Amino acid sequence: MKLLSRLLGEPASPKADEAFRKRVDARAAAAFETFEFERLEGAGVELDPLEYHSFLQYPRRDFLPPLAETTGPALLGHAPPAIGGLYVHLPFCPYTCSFCPIPTTTSREDALVSRYMSALETELDAAQPWLAGSEIRSIYIGGGTPTLLETERLVRLAETLRERVSLAKDLEWTLEASPDTVDAAKAEAVVRAGVNRFSLGVQTMSQKLLDSFGRKHSIEQAARAIRILSNSGAEVVNVDLIFGFPGQTRDDIWRDVEMIAELRPDSISWNQLYQLNETPLRERMRRHPHEARAVYSTRAQVHEALSALGYEGRLGHGMYRRSSDRRRYTKNNVDPAGGLLVGFGVSSRGLINDFAYRNSTNLAEYFARVGKTGWGIASGARVTAEQRARRAVLFGLRQGGVPASVLEGEPRAVCDEMAEKLRACEREGLVERAADAYRLTDRALVFQDAVAGHVALGEDERQRFKEWHKPSLQ
Ligand code: SF4
Repeated sequence: MKLLSRLLGEPASPKADEAFRKRVDARAAAAFETFEFERLEGAGVELDPLEYHSFLQYPRRDFLPPLAETTGPALLGHAPPAIGGLYVHLPFCPYTCSFCPIPTTTSREDALVSRYMSALETELDAAQPWLAGSEIRSIYIGGGTPTLLETERLVRLAETLRERVSLAKDLEWTLEASPDTVDAAKAEAVVRAGVNRFSLGVQTMSQKLLDSFGRKHSIEQAARAIRILSNSGAEVVNVDLIFGFPGQTRDDIWRDVEMIAELRPDSISWNQLYQLNETPLRERMRRHPHEARAVYSTRAQVHEALSALGYEGRLGHGMYRRSSDRRRYTKNNVDPAGGLLVGFGVSSRGLINDFAYRNSTNLAEYFARVGKTGWGIASGARVTAEQRARRAVLFGLRQGGVPASVLEGEPRAVCDEMAEKLRACEREGLVERAADAYRLTDRALVFQDAVAGHVALGEDERQRFKEWHKPSLQ
C-alpha cells in the first residue's frame, strides 16, 4: 500500500498513516455505528439500501407507458422551449459487467455501429426545431463505453453535435470513458473536438473485485487512464467508484481512497452497488438486513474519507467535489430542477414541454422507429402536478434542500403526505429546517437515498421499483 500520509503532504510514515485511518474510522463510527437505527424506524424509513438510489430521473423512465410510433413525436409539442441539456447514448461495451443495470451490447460489428451513428444523426435532425432556439449548457455522451469507439467516430459525433446546436459559454461537455479504452491521442482529440469533462468508470481499485465481475482491465490501467485524462486538456476528470460489492473489505475501500489521494480527480461519483432484481445477491440482501446495514457502514467510511481529503458530498447521487470547487457537475445529465433535456440513442430519455419520454430499449425497434419518424421514442407521458411535487422533494432532499413552499403547493393530498413524512423525519433528527427549507442533517447523509425515497415516493412506485428488471437491448 502507498503511504497515505505522504500523499496528504504529511511526514510520511506508517504510523502517520495508521493515525489518519484511525481518525477517519472514528469519525465514520461516530456517524454510523452510534446511529440509533430506531430513528429510521421511528420516521417510517425502510432501511433497504437497494431500492431508491437509482432514481436518477423522475418520473422514472422505466415506468413510462408504451406509445405507438407516431404518438411520442406528436406529444413533444410545437413551441420550442429552451432546452438545457443533451444526452447521447452509445451502448457499446467491451464486456458485460455482472453488476451493470444498463442495457448494453458487446457487438462491435462495423455495420451495426455505422447504422447506430447514422440513426443518432437522424434523431438530431428531427430534433432541430426543438433545438434551434436553445443554448445548450450540458452535453453528456454516456453509455455503454463511448471511448470504445474509434477516435474518428467520436470526433465525427462531436462535429455533428456542434453543427446542429448552439453551445453556451459555460457548456459542460462530458464523455464517459473506461480505463482500457483511452489513450492520450484519443483523449486529446476529443478535447480538441469540444469535450471538457471526462467521467471514468474505475469502480474499484481491487483487482480481485474487478476480475470477479468480469471487467478485463487492471488497476494499473485505471490509474494510468486517470493520468492520461488529467493531462488531456479537459477541465474536469470525474472518477466513478462503487461500494457495497460482496466481499469488498474496508482495506479495499482504503485502496480506493489512496488512489484518490494520489491522483486527485476533480470529482468522484461514489455510488452503492446497484442490486439487480434477478441476482442472488439482491435476494440475499433482502433476507439478511444486517448485511444491508454493513453497506451503510461502508458508505460512512467513504463519506468520512472523502471529507478528510477535502471533498464535499452534498451534490446528491453520490457525487463529491473539492470543497472549494463551485463548478456544476452532472451525472448522466440528471437535472433535479426538471430542466429540459433531449435524449438521443437507444434507451435514452428526454423531457420536453412537460412530456417525459424514453427511447426504445430494443435496438431493432429503435432503428425502426427512427427510420419511420426520426425519433426513437417508445414510451412517455405528460408529467403530472403530483410528479412535479414528488420530484422537487426527491431531488431537493438529496441536493441541498426542499423549499417549504413546495409543500404548500398542489396536489394538496400529496404535499400533505410528504410534509407529514418530513415532520416525522425532523422529529427523529434526520431532517432539519434551515432558511425555510428542509434539508438532511449531517447524520442522515449516509441514509440520504432511503430517506429521500421514503419521503418523496408513493407506495405504488416503491413497489414497482422492487419488481423492476433490467431491460435488454436485443
Ligand atoms: S459497467 Fe460500464 S463497461 Fe461494464 S457493462 Fe456497464 S456500461 Fe459497460
